[in-house]
Amino acid sequence: MNDIKKVIILGAGASKSDGAPLQRDLFKDFFDYVYKNSRNNILLGEQEKILVDFFKTFWNIDIQGHDADEFPTFEDCLGILDIAYARGESFRGYRKEKINQTRDALIFLIGKVLDIRLKGKTNNNHLNLVKRLKKEDKLLQTSFISLNYDLIIDNVLGDLYNKNEERLYLDYGINFANNEWKEPVPGRSIPLFKIHGSLNWLQCPTCNQMEYTYSRKDRSYNSVHENAPCRGCQTPMEPVIIPPTFYKNLNNRFIQEIFLKSEEVLRDADEVFICGYSFPDADIFMRYVLKRAELFNQKSPKLYIINRNPERNPESKEKSYKNNKINRIFKNKANINFTDLSFQEFCEDGCDDSLN
Ligand SMILES: [Zn+2]
Repeated sequence: MNDIKKVIILGAGASKSDGAPLQRDLFKDFFDYVYKNSRNNILLGEQEKILVDFFKTFWNIDIQGHDADEFPTFEDCLGILDIAYARGESFRGYRKEKINQTRDALIFLIGKVLDIRLKGKTNNNHLNLVKRLKKEDKLLQTSFISLNYDLIIDNVLGDLYNKNEERLYLDYGINFANNEWKEPVPGRSIPLFKIHGSLNWLQCPTCNQMEYTYSRKDRSYNSVHENAPCRGCQTPMEPVIIPPTFYKNLNNRFIQEIFLKSEEVLRDADEVFICGYSFPDADIFMRYVLKRAELFNQKSPKLYIINRNPERNPESKEKSYKNNKINRIFKNKANINFTDLSFQEFCEDGCDDSLN
C-alpha cells in the first residue's frame, strides 16, 4: 500500500450532498412506482411482489395510502432479517428461504433506485474532492473509508484509470474474480474501504469468490440487480451488504479483510477527516475500529469533523450536543477539530488549519 497519511471517512451526509436520497424516501419511491403500475394494470415482477408482501406482513404498510414517515430504515429491515438468519429462526409465514429472498430483493431495490436517481446527476462534490487532492498532490497519500453502499466515490476513483494518463487504480482492499479486474499496483492506487459492503459486489457462497458489476459501455460501476450465476461454478451469487446493526455478522472474510485494512490506515494516518457521519448508536463497529486505532500508539491523528448541514444552520444547542456526543468517543479530545464546514466546502477548499 502507499504511504497513507490522510484518511477520509465518508458517511451518509456525504452521499446526500451529491443527491443520494434518504433511505425512507427510497422505499416511498418504490411504493409510488408499484402503486402507479398497479393502477395501470402492469404486473409486478418477482422481486417487487416479495417486497410488497414483506412491507405488508412486517410493517403493515400498504401500497395504497403509504406515508414516507411510516417506513422503517433499510438497516432495520436488513438487520431484522439477518438476526433471524444467524439464529436459524424464521418468522410466521417466513421461512429461511423467503427471508433470504426478501433480503436480496431489498438490496436490489435500493441499488436500482440509486442507480436511476444518481445516473449522471450527482452534484460533483466527490469529484471536486478528488480533483482537489490531486491538484494538491495529496491523492496518493489518501485513503477513503466509506460507510455508504452507493457507488458515487467508486465511480470517481474508478475514472482515474480510464481518463487519466497516469492510470491510477481503485483499491477496494480485496480481490475479485472478474476478468477485467485490475490488481492495484502499489504506489499507484487509491484505497477505498467499504466496511459495510457495496451495491456492486456479489459473492459466491460456494467458491467464496467476489465479483463486481462493471458496465464496459458506460465505463462505470452499477448496482447488482439480480443473483447472477458465479462464473466459476454457476451458483447464484449473493449481494454483500452488511448494515450497521448492533448485531453484526463478522464472518464474511472479505469484510473482515476490509476492516483490518481500515484499521491499518487509521493507525498510520496523521489526519482523519470524518465527513457527513453522525456516529449512529447502532454503528458500534466503526467506533470500535477508531478506538483500536486511537489506542494503538500514543500519536493519535488529528480528527476533523465535517458535518454541517448546508441547508440549515443548526442552533448552537444542537451543535454542542452533537459535538459532545463525538467528544465522548475519543480519548485525546484535544485532537478533535469541529470545523463547522459542510462537505461541499471541504471538497472544494479543504480544511484550513488556522480555522481551528
Ligand atoms: Zn462459485
